[in-house]
Amino acid sequence: MQRLLMHNPIALAALWILAYMVICLLPLGVVLLHPAPDPRGFWTEFSVALGFIGLALMALQFVLAARVNRIEASYGIDILLLFHRYTSVVAFGLVIIHPLILFVTRPETLELLNFPEAPWRARLAVISTLAFCLMVVTTIWRRQLRIPYEPWRAAHSGLAVVAVGLGFGHGIGVGFYLGQFWTIVLWSGFIAIALWLILYVRLVKPWMLTKKPYLVEEVKPQRGNVWTLALRPMGHDGFTFDPGQFSWLTLGITPLSMREHPFSMSSNGDRGDRIEFGIKALGDFTSRIKDVKPGTKAYLDGPYGVFTTERYWDTAGFVLIAGGVGITPMHSMLVTAAERKDDRPFLLIYSAQSWDDFTYREDLEAFKAKLDLTIVYIPREGPKDWQGETGYVDKALLERHIPHHRGSRQYFICAAPVMMDVVERALFELEVPVTHVHMEHFNLA
Ligand SMILES: Cc1cc2nc3c(=O)[nH]c(=O)nc-3n(C[C@H](O)[C@H](O)[C@H](O)COP(=O)(O)OP(=O)(O)OC[C@H]3O[C@@H](n4cnc5c(N)ncnc54)[C@H](O)[C@@H]3O)c2cc1C
Repeated sequence: MQRLLMHNPIALAALWILAYMVICLLPLGVVLLHPAPDPRGFWTEFSVALGFIGLALMALQFVLAARVNRIEASYGIDILLLFHRYTSVVAFGLVIIHPLILFVTRPETLELLNFPEAPWRARLAVISTLAFCLMVVTTIWRRQLRIPYEPWRAAHSGLAVVAVGLGFGHGIGVGFYLGQFWTIVLWSGFIAIALWLILYVRLVKPWMLTKKPYLVEEVKPQRGNVWTLALRPMGHDGFTFDPGQFSWLTLGITPLSMREHPFSMSSNGDRGDRIEFGIKALGDFTSRIKDVKPGTKAYLDGPYGVFTTERYWDTAGFVLIAGGVGITPMHSMLVTAAERKDDRPFLLIYSAQSWDDFTYREDLEAFKAKLDLTIVYIPREGPKDWQGETGYVDKALLERHIPHHRGSRQYFICAAPVMMDVVERALFELEVPVTHVHMEHFNLA
């Protein structure tokens, strides 16, 4: 069974979904194993069931956000985060509908909203629901509310703990189903695991990272306002990775400060002794990379991600489609393939603002000596006497360059969101099998 799952990622992914559904409904099942001593009517019981499922879904969000490598390896971080977003909205809906049903079917329960007079169990529910509302609003409209990423992330975790912890407290306070010893034990275990996961991610794991520091070895300018940041492991072997994967980087401060940023490794995946990143100066953190001094301490949590050529050892070749700094994972794929003397064909379709903005241009040209590599550069406007493609990547351009036997290659896309959408749609229209298309989004939140 274990072998089957190891060699069949689809079976493993399906198993995770099954486990998710079982865990989601298990607490409700246990509650129902001990039927209510005094049934309270269909609508009340229905509302309570929705509340329990909502609470279980909320607690399961901690698992999704815990960067569990085995789960992440089945889907990729962007799919997991998408799932996290959608299931959070479902949980939010259930948590809101749960009291609404009671207010409509038993209007006397509206008195529980009178906060100063209400019993503690109702106050806990109100605070939990408010925390959940705040979490949803600040997540959906973070950019519009101009909340910087780091404070938002800290508040998001805090509000999640308050919402789940007090929601559970509310269930205990009501005591109707959570009154028996074993149901309390089971639910407590369930909630404790969820809270442990957040402690693990926010405290235990960062503390473990402090034992494996890195030193900045070099900071080197590249074309396109990108900086190569090269790290060397300090007192340990570093890690090897699948080309295309990423890590969470903390620079100059302890990982316990939780100010880490995700970056794709751009270097050879087989070399743990020097790990490189290509970082484009775009915001607060990335604009400071150019000033980082060699010898600065750094920490890496990784590798993560499924955006890698490594999984497709039996494919006939690869089509890599990059826009701007989206070239970094592709650079890693190409340098690793070149060092391994991979003889399969690689086609790189690479778009940037101008000819001078093609990051790693000289490296890419040099790879041609070691790899069966074709590069199609697409500057918005070409330099004088430019004979090649210009403008944007679209269906017509892709049709001109991708192989006729579309299904014989694996396609990797990493670019700005608009370009990713256009390319994904175009590949679909060009009948590239969807299972052959892999995308890495740099804007997670
Ligand atoms: C899987 C992955 C791989 C990436 N690889 C690269 C790469 O190789 N090269 C590169 O230049 N960029 C890469 N990025 C993008 C990079 O992480 C962000 O540009 C960077 O974190 C922005 O930080 P900032 O403070 O400079 O910008 P800000 O202006 O503060 O943030 C801009 C946006 O970046 C995102 N962001 C900011 N901080 C974080 C954080 N701590 N964690 C997650 N997202 C954050 C948010 O969406 C935010 O709105 C990658 C992102 C992901 C998710």
